[in-house]
Amino acid sequence: MTSSATSATALPPTVAAHVPTGVLVGGRWRPSSGGGTFPVADPATTEVLFDVADGTEQDALDALGAAADCAEEWRHVAPRERSELLRAVYETLTARADDIAALITAEGGKPLAESRAEVAYGADYVRWYAEEAVRVDGLARRAPAGGNHQLVLRRPVGPALLVTPWNFPIAMVARKLAPALAAGCTVVVKPAQLTPLTTAYVAEVVRAQLEARGLPTGVVNVVPSSSARRVSGPLLADPRLRKLSFTGSTEVGARLLEQAAPNILRTSMELGGNAPFLVFDDADLDAAVEGAVAAKMRNSGQTCVAANRFLVQEGVAAEFTDRLTRAFEGLVVGHGAAEGTTVGPLIEADAVDRVEQVVAEAVDGGARVRVGGDRPRGRGYFYRPTVVDRVGREDRLVTEEIFGPVAPVLTFGDEAEAVALANATPFGLVAYAYTRDVGRVMRLAEEVEAGMLGVNRGMVSDASAPFGGVKHSGLGREGGAAGIEEYLDPVYVAL
Ligand code: NAD
Repeated sequence: MTSSATSATALPPTVAAHVPTGVLVGGRWRPSSGGGTFPVADPATTEVLFDVADGTEQDALDALGAAADCAEEWRHVAPRERSELLRAVYETLTARADDIAALITAEGGKPLAESRAEVAYGADYVRWYAEEAVRVDGLARRAPAGGNHQLVLRRPVGPALLVTPWNFPIAMVARKLAPALAAGCTVVVKPAQLTPLTTAYVAEVVRAQLEARGLPTGVVNVVPSSSARRVSGPLLADPRLRKLSFTGSTEVGARLLEQAAPNILRTSMELGGNAPFLVFDDADLDAAVEGAVAAKMRNSGQTCVAANRFLVQEGVAAEFTDRLTRAFEGLVVGHGAAEGTTVGPLIEADAVDRVEQVVAEAVDGGARVRVGGDRPRGRGYFYRPTVVDRVGREDRLVTEEIFGPVAPVLTFGDEAEAVALANATPFGLVAYAYTRDVGRVMRLAEEVEAGMLGVNRGMVSDASAPFGGVKHSGLGREGGAAGIEEYLDPVYVAL
C-alpha cells in the first residue's frame, strides 16, 4: 500500500506577503471593478489561502484597452531591450525559485520538488525567448521569375489574450508570455480560477522590470475571474484583440475557436491528450518502469502529457505490470510541502469523484486493481496511485483523459496492433515508446499520430523544442523557434 507523508506546511508568510491579489491593468494592481472576490484554496487541506479580485467584463475591457494603448510603443522597443527585459525576468524568477515553488505547491498541490522543477522549466522559456527576441529573421531573395526581389519581414500580431490552465501555474503562462513579449505583442492574461496566485506573482515580476526600465507597464495585464467567460467573451468580440493563445481542455478550446471566428483571430490551441505509453518486448524494463512513473505521476497524473494508456507487448506485460505495481506501492501520498511526499492531491473534489467513477466502471467491466483504487482517509482531494490491468479497450479509463494517478495496462501482440491502438483516439499530443530497435523508433515517428514522441524517456518538454499536438490536441506550437512565430505575421514586400 502507498503510505502517507507527514502533515501540511503553510505558505511561508514571507511569500504570502508578495502575492498580488488584484486585477493588473495598465501597470497598476487594483480591486475588481465589481468589488467582488473569489477564494483560492490549498487542495491538500481545502483551506482558503487568499481571496482574489473577481475580474468583470469592465476589468477585461480596461485590460485590453491598456494593452492596445501601448501596443505601438511596445512593438517599436528595440528587440535587444525586450531581450534584456526578459533576461532580467528570468534571473528574478530563478533567484526566487523557492518562494515561487512554495506558492505553486500551496495553490496547486504538487510536491515541492516538482514545483521547483516547474519553476526551472517555466523560467527556461523566458530565457529562451530572451535569446530569440533578437533572432527574428526574415527573407530576402530574387523572385524566381527574375525582375524583382522579394522581402519577407515579421511584424507582431498585436494585443493577445493568453488563457491558461491550473496544472502548471508558472510554466503555462511563461511559454505564452515570453514569446509574446519577445515578438513585440502586448497581452491580457486570464489565469485559471483555481491557481491565479503564481501567475500574479510572475506578472508582478514583469511589471516591476518594465517600470524599472522606463518601459510601458501596460504591456502585461492580468484579469483573474471566477467566470472565465465573463473575461474571454467581450475580449474575443473586440476588434482590438488580434490573437488568442489558449491552453486547456479540448471542449473549451473548441468553444473559444468558435468565438474567435467572427474576428478571424490568430489562434494557438494547446489542448487535451490521451498519451499511449508503448512498451515492446525488447524494452529495458527498469527504464520503462522509471519512465512510466515519471510520465504518469507528475502532478498526480494531471498533465496533458500524462501517460494515459499503458500498451504493453504480451511477452513482457506481466513482468512490467508487477514492477509498475511495486513502484506505485513505494510512492508517498501527502501534502506537497511535507517532507517525503512524492504524490500530492488532485486539484478539487470533482476531480477525485471523476477518477473514482472511471475506475469503478472499469472494475465493473472486469478490470483488476493491482494497487490503490481508493482515497486515503482524511481531508484534502487525494486519490491513491493506482495500477489497473485487464482493462477493456472501450472503458472510459482508456478512451478519455484520466487526469489522475491511475495507470491502466492493456496488451498488444505486434507493432501494427500497437500503432493501431495508439492511434485509436481523437487526441494526438504525445506518445511514449520503450524499445531498443532504432528502425522501429523511426516507423513509430512516422506512424503514431502525435505531435511529440518520447523514446525511452518519460518526459519530452523542453523550452527549446516545439511542444504541441495534432488532431483534437491542438493547433500551433509553443517553445523552440516555432513558439515565437505564433505571435508574428509575415509581411511580403515585392520590390
Ligand atoms: P479548462 O479548459 O477547464 O480551462 C482552461 C482555461 O480556460 C482556464 O483559464 C479556464 O478558466 C478557462 N475557461 C474554462 N471555461 C471557459 C469558457 N467557457 N470560456 C473561456 N474560458 C474558459 O482546462 P483545465 O481544467 O484548466 O486544464 C486541464 C486541461 O488542459 C486538460 O485537458 C489538459 O490536457 C489541458 N492542458 C493542455 C496542455 C497542452 O499544452 N496541450 C497543457 C496543460 C493542460
